[in-house]
Amino acid sequence: MSERLPCQTPGCTGTILPATALKTGGICMPCYQQKKAMEKQAYIEQNRKEVNRYAGIHDPVEILTIMHSPRKPDPLIKEVPYPRTAQELYRGLTEEERERMESYAVHLLEEEEDVDQAEMILVSLLCFTDTRLGPGLDSFLRTENYNPPILFKDADAQIRDRLIAQVESDPANRNLLLLALAWIGDEEVVRLFAAWRQSPPEWASTLYQAPETYAREAGWELDAGGGKRQLYHPECYPFLVSREDTPEMPGAPAAVQMLRTGTDTCPWCGGGLTVLFDYDLQHPQTGFMELPGKRLRIAACMHCSCYGTLYMKADLEGGYVWSEYNTVPEYLPDNTGGPAFNTWHRMQLSEQPAGTFESAHWILEAPASQIGGHPAWIQDADYPVCPCCSRTMTFAAQADMGQVAEDEGIYYSFLCRECLITAVNYQQT
Ligand SMILES: [Zn+2]
Ligand SMILES: [Zn+2]
Ligand SMILES: [Zn+2]
Repeated sequence: MSERLPCQTPGCTGTILPATALKTGGICMPCYQQKKAMEKQAYIEQNRKEVNRYAGIHDPVEILTIMHSPRKPDPLIKEVPYPRTAQELYRGLTEEERERMESYAVHLLEEEEDVDQAEMILVSLLCFTDTRLGPGLDSFLRTENYNPPILFKDADAQIRDRLIAQVESDPANRNLLLLALAWIGDEEVVRLFAAWRQSPPEWASTLYQAPETYAREAGWELDAGGGKRQLYHPECYPFLVSREDTPEMPGAPAAVQMLRTGTDTCPWCGGGLTVLFDYDLQHPQTGFMELPGKRLRIAACMHCSCYGTLYMKADLEGGYVWSEYNTVPEYLPDNTGGPAFNTWHRMQLSEQPAGTFESAHWILEAPASQIGGHPAWIQDADYPVCPCCSRTMTFAAQADMGQVAEDEGIYYSFLCRECLITAVNYQQT
């Protein structure tokens, strides 16, 4: 047996075989690996180059094309980010530029170059510019892929009829086809869903839920008479992170304040309640809610609402009380810590409206704090049922914790205007 030698690194108590010492210059393997890693890191830092792929480019279509194209991560390259987001660029596209963007997606689909990238472009066009897709959707259909179903929003009668025929004969894609039809949601689809509710098709037994309930994923449901009932407001105003150096604007209070400390404590966890949204109902920006009265506060426990829907009884003077309908969730861990308000960004309601669907597809990673608009579901759509009148509650607003606190998840809030009951629930990836 050979004699072991001490590792030469000061402070290291490791010992090594003479053969190892020859290979590593007298240090043990862990020390050797650490030294190599440090050398590599130093090399990267000395040789890393800044690369600005956008330098000298002014055409927004070209800029977006670069943004969407995938790149292999290279430690020796430090990408200079473009100063505006894809969302901002899409919003500013002219009609001609939107067409060019759509043609580029068609090219990617037809050449089967990068289907994922093509989908991303089509969804961005649909959500950020609210365009009706033309050749892009035709080409997408030719790939026989139906995901993401939101791409079928506002598709024409010809595509709709094709999907209606296919849903009968294509069990493998039935789930996605039903979602696509829900997103089309025109009179014919509403009539069809109502007919299915009346007499379920044979294949309905193979689904996890009744076919007509797929409508909720696209933000609507059938009312008692078989008509279409929208579950969100098309009007939408986003909250923006207010810059740290700008004090809250004096004399011009916002229409809705977001995330304020409430006055009561949660009876379940003992933590403080939070007013997620505080509406000034007399402000023109909240006029679309069509609520009489002065003030609506939607409050919840930020901890407990992560584990189940929390209801409050509200009034239109800004009052709220814990609802008698609340039931303790099956799983409710202790509230350790709780939200650290002082580390959150201050959010300010924008006076500029946003498109209804800008955050509807969360894959686009658009900031989602907003009042109105279509919710940014991370999981399946989860519109609570009003515990008082049993009607599906309407989406009111949402708080995107990624935007507020570099945290994760979204809090969604809802209102039953008849019963004045509010609800808050939460989803994360
Ligand atoms: Zn060592
Ligand atoms: Zn609680
Ligand atoms: Zn109700």
